[in-house]
Amino acid sequence: MFVSSGKELIEVCEKENLTIWEYTLREEVEKSGLDREKVIEKMRQNLNVMISSSTYAQENSVKSVSGLIGGDAVKLKEFAESGKTLTGQFMVKAMARAISSSEVNAAMGKIVACPTAGSCGILPAAILSAGEKLDKSEDELVKALFTAAGVGVIIARNATMAGAEGGCQAECGSAAAMASAAVVEMMGGTVEQSLDAAAIVIKNILGLVCDPVAGLVEVPCAKRNIAGTVSALTTADMVMCGVKSKIPFDEVVWAMYKVGRQLPPELRETALGGIAITPTGLRLKKEIFK
Ligand code: SF4
Repeated sequence: MFVSSGKELIEVCEKENLTIWEYTLREEVEKSGLDREKVIEKMRQNLNVMISSSTYAQENSVKSVSGLIGGDAVKLKEFAESGKTLTGQFMVKAMARAISSSEVNAAMGKIVACPTAGSCGILPAAILSAGEKLDKSEDELVKALFTAAGVGVIIARNATMAGAEGGCQAECGSAAAMASAAVVEMMGGTVEQSLDAAAIVIKNILGLVCDPVAGLVEVPCAKRNIAGTVSALTTADMVMCGVKSKIPFDEVVWAMYKVGRQLPPELRETALGGIAITPTGLRLKKEIFK
């Protein structure tokens, strides 16, 4: 049975000298009844879809079905290569990857919902960008996905990952937390450091509402995938230099869930609040559904 808290995860990994990815893979093998190679292969298939979704819209100007979003991944890719960026090629490339998956999703293309379709750009962008920079092999990227999955299981157990239940903090926040924890492990961080990264990411997005324009997973979702990716990557650096989370991961997840439940229904994916009911948000909705 998978551990039910970050505290337990730290304890079991310390006791058995395991990383998060090793523990998560072991538990998945036990739970699924599949052999280890099969479980790894299934995760490799996820990785391949992620590579494709985070690349496709950078090379092809993809428009969403509603026409609300599209074409921004191409712009970011070109800007990353221009030498004119403020945050550097690494970061802008990661941003391009993030929005590429979001654009592919909004165009009804194939993505990995990790943990949801709305937040599908964050994990691929963070893992692939970190992997490229750290010169990681495909096998190591697959391991990073197990790390992310392990952290995700604990968040899902103790809170929620649905915007309809907990706001965007639960969707993009969870995705960014999972991604940051995985990047920390890729960088050689400890289990405790990975969970510190996850905690810091969630704290920094705490309270974010779910307010999709016209009820479509496009605006503001796609750009929140960029923000989540940047947060995941910068937080990994923060943690790897020795910064810790004052509030433990488990308590942050608890707070995230409480905050989510305190959000009124208008701010939980109903498109009745936030950005969705701004004059422009309402005009766009009218144009889409006319
Ligand atoms: S705003 Fe809502 S629908 Fe959009 S990504 Fe966030 S949680 Fe998902």
